[in-house]
Amino acid sequence: MASITLRNIVKQYGDGFPAVNDVSIDIADGEFIILVGPSGCGKSTLLRMIVGLEDITAGDLLINDVRVNDKAPRERNLAMVFQNYALYPHLTVFENIAFPLRLAKKKHSEEEIRQKVTEAARTLELTDHLERKPANLSGGQRQRVAMGRAIVREADAFLFDEPLSNLDAKLRGQMRSEISQMQRRLGVTSVYVTHDQTEAMTLGDRVAVLKKGELQQIASPRELYEQPVNLFVAGFIGSPSMNFLPATPAGDRLRTPIGDIPVAADKLQTVQGRQVVLAGIRPEHFEDATLVDEAKRPQGHTFSTELTHSEWLGNEQYGYISFEAEPEIHRLLANLAREMDADELRPQIVVTLDAASRIRGGRPAELWVDTSKLQLFDPETGINLT
Ligand code: ATP
Repeated sequence: MASITLRNIVKQYGDGFPAVNDVSIDIADGEFIILVGPSGCGKSTLLRMIVGLEDITAGDLLINDVRVNDKAPRERNLAMVFQNYALYPHLTVFENIAFPLRLAKKKHSEEEIRQKVTEAARTLELTDHLERKPANLSGGQRQRVAMGRAIVREADAFLFDEPLSNLDAKLRGQMRSEISQMQRRLGVTSVYVTHDQTEAMTLGDRVAVLKKGELQQIASPRELYEQPVNLFVAGFIGSPSMNFLPATPAGDRLRTPIGDIPVAADKLQTVQGRQVVLAGIRPEHFEDATLVDEAKRPQGHTFSTELTHSEWLGNEQYGYISFEAEPEIHRLLANLAREMDADELRPQIVVTLDAASRIRGGRPAELWVDTSKLQLFDPETGINLT
């Protein structure tokens, strides 16, 4: 197994901005790292550079502390697991798993091959399916065959390039947990590319968020969620997305479209003297005020509003609040949309309410928001000030 170190890695294709720009990541032996970001952010390019399918323009790539920039993919001993699993339909599961051994420069005896394939099949719970063809396997089993190939090669690390993106939602969920369990069982260093934030949040030990070729933040899923470094990460992680409200410091409060909300002194200090900042509040930090414990209420802010509409999802509901915005706020929101690669951001707040709430669109409502969870961002630079 292996540690993988990226030091100031750059990939420049043509004259435009680099596809990958000065990315440094230390991946520990056995760690599961996710590369996530919107389309075109450079995540696949980064993975392809690690495996050796793409030249590195500048920077150093180290595997177990040895520089491998100029080594051929074969010599790096990393196994790539692709989207379509690249299984051979005419070969049995046994032969599909044995394939890399038959192809290897070093000759393996038939006995050796049988032993390695049997062992991998046992680990992957494929023993009963060894004589089947891929067409007769479930999606999950095919995924395991693809991993079996990587195992028999005794690869130092597994690299996954959006392996689940062609599957329907239910199967994707099953496969996600299979990959996660398998990776933990094998303890093999893994790098996994996805644009799906559920995969990013559930699979990895740490998640690296990329935007336009640049690393924004690398942290545990929880830290990304609770302490995003900037507006981009805050908006990208979480669904529905974090709300961003224009806020102006006024005494010990922040003036916002949902009223003047009390804010802890240390948070307020970070924004003193500013005209306007963006207050980030996640949808689930709102609640129907009538459902909030009396004891808990003082920790937050209660306000009267009216939902434009609501959506009932069975286990919870989404409510939407529109707010009036001055031209300056529209400019900020346009700025924010650019920052987040979004098309348009409307002056709107999305709230998640308990399924039991009787609040509905078009009627007055009392909502409560947990202000202790509020984050404050610089509207121009996007940096998290809290
Ligand atoms: P997606 O999720 O859409 O696959 P990605 O985050 O994996 O996106 P990359 O495929 O790594 O992004 O591409 C990063 C940038 O590099 C994009 O702007 C892309 O157009 C550009 N790019 C990728 N491959 C090439 C190439 N062979 N030649 C020129 N530009 C390329």
